[in-house]
Amino acid sequence: MSKIALITGANKGIGFETARQLAASGGVHVVLAARDRAKGVDAALKLQAEGLDVEALTLDVTDAASVAAAVKEIDEQAGKASDRRRNIAAEVPDDLLALYDQIRKSRSVGAAALRAGRCEGCHLSLNTVDLNVIRASAPDEVVRCEECRRILVRTPESGL
Ligand SMILES: [Zn+2]
Repeated sequence: MSKIALITGANKGIGFETARQLAASGGVHVVLAARDRAKGVDAALKLQAEGLDVEALTLDVTDAASVAAAVKEIDEQAGKASDRRRNIAAEVPDDLLALYDQIRKSRSVGAAALRAGRCEGCHLSLNTVDLNVIRASAPDEVVRCEECRRILVRTPESGL
């Protein structure tokens, strides 16, 4: 299996150039991580148009929810998932990764999106009290579903 490299801030500047050169060197699958999904995809498409083996990943390493979402995204990709996950895992704070792994063992998925006030993991709607607690939480705080204990990933569609 070819090597996989994760490059953060890869949508522009030195990150983008590094991604291009690494991918062009051959034998390396480059994951372009960017905070902004559209910009990351845009950058990946540019390099794919040059025939390079790259893909985009939305990731803000300073945001626990974003990191959890990225790990989940990686997990969901079949095939090379384990390799990619290892690379991402290197970027994730140890305690968050440990928590994610612990949940994943018992729930098969360690994180779930919070959508319209509902946990996508166990499909139960959160009550008003729990939603208020999440609303009051800092963006980088790890919040969990009270029912299934999965890490809840907040998105603009979370209904908060
Ligand atoms: Zn749940």
